Amino acid sequence: MIRYDFAGKVALVTGSSRGIGAGVLTAFAQAGATCVLHYWDDPDGANRTDADALAAKLRALPGSPAVHVFAADVRDGGQVEALMRQAKEACGGLDVLVNNAGVIRDRTLKKMTPDEWHAVLRTNLDGVFHCCKYGAEILRDGGRVVNVASVAGLVGFHGQANYAAAKAGVIGLTRVLGKELARRGITVNAVAPGVVQTPMLGEIKPEVMAEYLKQIPAGRLGTPDDIANAVLFLATEESAYITGQVLPVTGGWV
Ligand code: NAD
Repeated sequence: MIRYDFAGKVALVTGSSRGIGAGVLTAFAQAGATCVLHYWDDPDGANRTDADALAAKLRALPGSPAVHVFAADVRDGGQVEALMRQAKEACGGLDVLVNNAGVIRDRTLKKMTPDEWHAVLRTNLDGVFHCCKYGAEILRDGGRVVNVASVAGLVGFHGQANYAAAKAGVIGLTRVLGKELARRGITVNAVAPGVVQTPMLGEIKPEVMAEYLKQIPAGRLGTPDDIANAVLFLATEESAYITGQVLPVTGGWV
């Protein structure tokens, strides 16, 4: 049950057609926000289908929240600039920007190709830079930015050089932007999820997953709702004096 009230606020969540992003956007919709559902228009059209289905589900919630659906590849600054322009035209501006879009391409350094390195850096770090840069232009004063980092950016895990470097970069960016945007009353924080049940986990080997599960004191994997609860807290007006921080959401892990 979501207890926050975001009536009258506009929230954009990147990569919100599925996984954690869909969970976070759903929580904003349940709390009465106008929602900007952003998705990546992948070649087989799966994200578009997911985005349309989620938008229909959110519009059917009590209070019929407004949901705007826009595509952009976060690796491409021009597309992100266009996304923010569309959001501004549709909603007049943003109150909350959640940078959630991300990918994983795990390999040991020995096996990792330069393409795999760049693929993760371009989506997970350049993408957040693009969204912060162009998103800040349409965020209203007093707005909120929440970046979805990872505990992988705080603790290095085997086989994740690209992912850990990108997420550590997001944490550094969060700390700097917390200072740069403070004069506008905009806070910039990050959540650092542990292991969360989403389609991304399909890319992690079962034996690695079993090992993670043994180490989580809460005795279970996280859910998108667990992450949404932390994100919504950092997006409230009441969290105004918290900025440049990283909140681990891990069930006590690491
Ligand atoms: P997911 O694969 O279900 O979702 C990722 C989303 O990012 C998808 O909607 C995808 O379409 C989008 N995306 C990918 N490339 C994109 C691009 N170039 N442009 C725009 N959008 C793009 O995975 P998830 O688990 O929901 O991950 C969401 C975020 O949470 C990611 O940043 C991920 O690194 C982070 N995270 C996940 C976990 C976990 O255990 N699942 C743990 C820590 C952090």
